Parts: sequence; C-alpha cells; structure tokens
Amino acid sequence: MKIINSIPLVTRALIVSALLLAGFGAINAARAKSDKPEITIGVVPVAGPITMLIGVGGFSGGNVGVSAGPDGMLIIDDKLKPFSKKLEARLDALKTCLECGDLKFLINTHWHGDHTGGNAYFGGQAVIVAHDNVRKLMAAPQEIKIFKMKIPAAPDQALPVITYRNSVSVHFNGEEIRIIHFPNGHTDGDSVIHFTKSNVLHLGDQFFNGLFPFIDVEHGGNVVTMTRNVGEMIDMFPADAKIIPGHGPLGDMNDLKTMRAMMKATTKIVQDRMKAGKSLKEIQAAGLPEKWKSWSWRISTETWIAVIYDSLKK
Ligand SMILES: [Zn+2]
Repeated sequence: MKIINSIPLVTRALIVSALLLAGFGAINAARAKSDKPEITIGVVPVAGPITMLIGVGGFSGGNVGVSAGPDGMLIIDDKLKPFSKKLEARLDALKTCLECGDLKFLINTHWHGDHTGGNAYFGGQAVIVAHDNVRKLMAAPQEIKIFKMKIPAAPDQALPVITYRNSVSVHFNGEEIRIIHFPNGHTDGDSVIHFTKSNVLHLGDQFFNGLFPFIDVEHGGNVVTMTRNVGEMIDMFPADAKIIPGHGPLGDMNDLKTMRAMMKATTKIVQDRMKAGKSLKEIQAAGLPEKWKSWSWRISTETWIAVIYDSLKK
C-alpha cells in the first residue's frame, strides 16, 4: 500500500472509493452487524514506530494509528465493532519483541462508532483517552438524522477513562505524543494526535484525504470552524509531517491544503446560492463543478452540499 502515495490524488480517491465499497454511509456502517470475511486489515508503514491500519476490500471504519515499541502499544481509534478481533490479530503481529508489552493506551479522535467501535473490546486491556465530550456523547443515546441513525449509550467499559478539556500528553515509546482538542470541527469533541519525534499526525475525521468529509453538525461540527481548524493545523504543525487521515490514504500537508481549498471553494458556492434565496433541494439539483466529482464517495455531492447548508444555517 506504500505505493499508493505516488499515485495522483484524484486516482487515489477513486481507488479508495473502490476499496471502501461495503455498507457505508460514513458512520452508518456502525450498524454493520458482522465482520465481513472479504474485508481484511492492511498495514501501511508511516515513520519510526508508527504504522497505519486500513480496511482492504471494504469499509471497516476509520484509519487506526499504532505506536509499537519497547513500552508496548498505543493505538488511535479502533474501527467498527465487528472488526475488533481482526484488529487485535493485526496488532499482535506488529509487536516488536517478545518482551514488549501489550496494548497500553487507546486514544479516540472523536465519538463516532467507526472510530470507537472496538472500545468495549479493548477497554479491558487499554486505558482509553479522549476529549471530555467524547465520554459525554458516548455515555448517552445519540441520533444522527442525516443518516437516520440511532446510537445507544455505550457500555461502561467502552468509555474513556482519562479525559481532558484542551490537551494532554502521553510519553511513550521514546517520544511525547501530544493530544490536542480542536473545537467544533467534525464534531464538538475532536482531537489531533501529534507524534512529536516521529513527525506523524493523526487528524481523525478533521481530515478526509481526497474524499468529501462528513461533518456532524448535530453534534457541534461545522464546515466553517472545521475549515478554520484545518488552517490552524497547517500553520502549527511541521510542513513535512506525515498525516494519517480519518478516512482515505496516508497523506501530507499538501493533501490537507487541497482538502481545505475544496472546503473553501464548495462552501462559497453553497453560500452564494443560499444568499440568492435557493432552497437546499435547488442547490443540490444544481450540483458542484465537475472538478470536485472525484471527491464523491459514500459522502455524495448531495450529502456534502447538505452538510455545508446545515452548517451555514446554524
Ligand atoms: Zn467521524
């Protein structure tokens, strides 16, 4: 999968779209009941002790970041619930030495089920760390109307044990791993994880690489603030950092800038049409320019327009 980074972005988006065929509607695949045998978990080396785990042959949830070394293992996000055993088998294979410890920490970038589905499974082994609002949202039933999803409250063992308001650091496998909250981006509880020595970022669902993002406007997300957050990330993190996105292939700052440009341009189009008095249906019927077509996947052009529209209505 390393090779995928040498392929042009548009082609990569198409490949990823093709890879993610199984029952998805962003997070609504959280409803998937079974571990589909055709879907496997692939390993993408990133830098130093960091690897990225992806779904191959279908949708298994968000990308997982792994730090594996002498202190044991720390993972970021844990895919959809049915894939916990497959994910565990992959993690076992990543152990760097016999005496190296097992899974110690699990960080959630946000509350969605395609990033926290394994929490109940791994919560018995690892200390779960996430933003204050991730625990709050997971502890109560939630609804995402745009996907007609009703999500029950998570069991106690799935809830984050250590929570923070702004940021926290974990010192692990020879580096400081900074966990920083960015408010009102994809949700109201998103964090960015920075492996400071390995120069790797996991941006969770504030970065969909080459794909239209989903933004959970009902739970505090907003396209305007997420675009601003992404701008802050571009300014504050190293220009040569490798970036694990919530969805899509391993990326870099140029890919992040490309997503920000898409967000700015498409938001302006929807905003101008709203100012001209057009309804959501009319704006969706008019669509977006051809150049953004390759970004459509499970988050279709219509859904993306609705996300922008809902954000601007707030
Ligand atoms: Zn999400």
